[in-house]
Amino acid sequence: MDANQFREAAHAAIEEIIQYYDTLPSRQVVSSVSPGYLKPLLPEAPPTTGEAWPAIQADIERVIQPGLTHWQHPNFMAFFPANSSYPGLLGELYSAAFTAPAFNWLCSPAVTELETVVLDWVCGMIGLPDVFLSKGEGGGVIQGSASEAIVTVMVAARERVLNRMTERYEDEKSRDDAKDAMRVKLVSLGSDQAHSSTQKGAIIAGTKFRKITARREDDFGLRSADLRRELERCKSDGLIPYYLTVTLGTTSTCAVDYFEEIAEVIQDYPDLWVHVDAAYAGAALVCPEYQHLTKSFDKFNSFDFNMHKWLLTNFDASCLFIKKRSDLTSALSITPSYLRNSFSDSGLVTDYRDWQIPLGRRFRSLKIWFVLRSYGISGLQAHIRGHIKLGELFHSLMLTRPDLFDVLSKPAFALTVITIKPSTSGEALDRARRLSAASKSDPSHERYLNDFSLDATAHALVDANKLTKEVYELINTRGEIFLTSGVIGGAYAIRVVSATPTAEEKYVRRAFEILVETTKEVLKKGTN
Ligand code: PLP
Repeated sequence: MDANQFREAAHAAIEEIIQYYDTLPSRQVVSSVSPGYLKPLLPEAPPTTGEAWPAIQADIERVIQPGLTHWQHPNFMAFFPANSSYPGLLGELYSAAFTAPAFNWLCSPAVTELETVVLDWVCGMIGLPDVFLSKGEGGGVIQGSASEAIVTVMVAARERVLNRMTERYEDEKSRDDAKDAMRVKLVSLGSDQAHSSTQKGAIIAGTKFRKITARREDDFGLRSADLRRELERCKSDGLIPYYLTVTLGTTSTCAVDYFEEIAEVIQDYPDLWVHVDAAYAGAALVCPEYQHLTKSFDKFNSFDFNMHKWLLTNFDASCLFIKKRSDLTSALSITPSYLRNSFSDSGLVTDYRDWQIPLGRRFRSLKIWFVLRSYGISGLQAHIRGHIKLGELFHSLMLTRPDLFDVLSKPAFALTVITIKPSTSGEALDRARRLSAASKSDPSHERYLNDFSLDATAHALVDANKLTKEVYELINTRGEIFLTSGVIGGAYAIRVVSATPTAEEKYVRRAFEILVETTKEVLKKGTN
């Protein structure tokens, strides 16, 4: 493809992309293809001679579109959103144009320096304490995902504690032996509501992992008393707690851990690295009304949130801030001769390869820069506040039907979690008893029963779980809206979050209608 052909192809592609965005609401949000749909649509092998762009572009519609679930669709109310925007797309385009695995400053000074500047901007914009700014000992770095950020800081935490605890050994061999003996005792912690990436991170870091229960009466936030109890239990078991994830906006319910209490407890545990996982809800910190949440973050070691979830920046843009950057670089910096250069040796430049797992890295700061400049802080605040309002609207609609719905967790960062209400009529109770007997032979259902004796409450809960699951599955099978479910504190629940850039009140009202209609339909026919 030469420059002229590129110009023509690019114009055609851009037109098609705009058309795609313009027609999103008229598409079905979830793809309805079956597994393996794509292979028969393609030849057995790549073409021997090159094809013209129009033939390639035509296959976007024929081959790709049918297998897309439309994450920007206004009826996408599942998982957490993955916001896209035109400025974000332009950032991706330029990043591709200047493609370079810019691991060292020297590889492309602009890649490094823009990242430092925009992450300092973001740090100030979301009200993080100044300790996370690059002007002091801290700084920000863009990672691919919140999970990657967790693994990265977990490794830094592991190396930090091992180095501290073996400082007294003078010769390298004794130090290494002592580290080996200690490594097996290291344990990382998170609440049972923390994202699974903490447990996965512990596997990758080769350390143990323990969960701490966060209770429903505490709105599923981790409390200091439970943390202290677990820390003491670790100690009495001969283990070394070295890392803790606290969460601002858990995946299931958008719960917030009790940061201020936790900050008090960790004063007694100076070797414990505390990481704030704010993958989704961290975006709300752009609004001053949420910034009180960051008050105690200067007591913690790192913070990460995904601009690619809720802040109009195309995937991927996970912003990791660290209080003491030397904790990262001393754990991850290895400089073979082929990576050495006078700029790195001078100590005057940042080499972000030492702040992450891979060596190469993309020019991701461009899209953040474009988004910040195009929307401005006030535009981003309006974006978040609009979704918060939609969450409140959905909740208020739920409250109009107490006969059908229970709200398991009130709207938090636009997410509301509901269950379908068990009926209390004699007939319904009979049905619940039958269901509960049937559920014994249904292994997928058995786990909901584990915590409950088979008394009337359990019957009601089984009824609610079965009903909720059935309503949820029917709605998603029909595909007008897309929701996700989860099991929270033993209850099968439906999560509803309307936070795509195309979200609007009319779609939230329609989602409510669908929930009401489907619930009535399921109740009328009785669950299977
Ligand atoms: N942490 C929380 C609270 C999340 O909700 C998620 C995903 O939704 C993650 C971490 C993992 O995010 P990522 O896909 O960026 O690794």
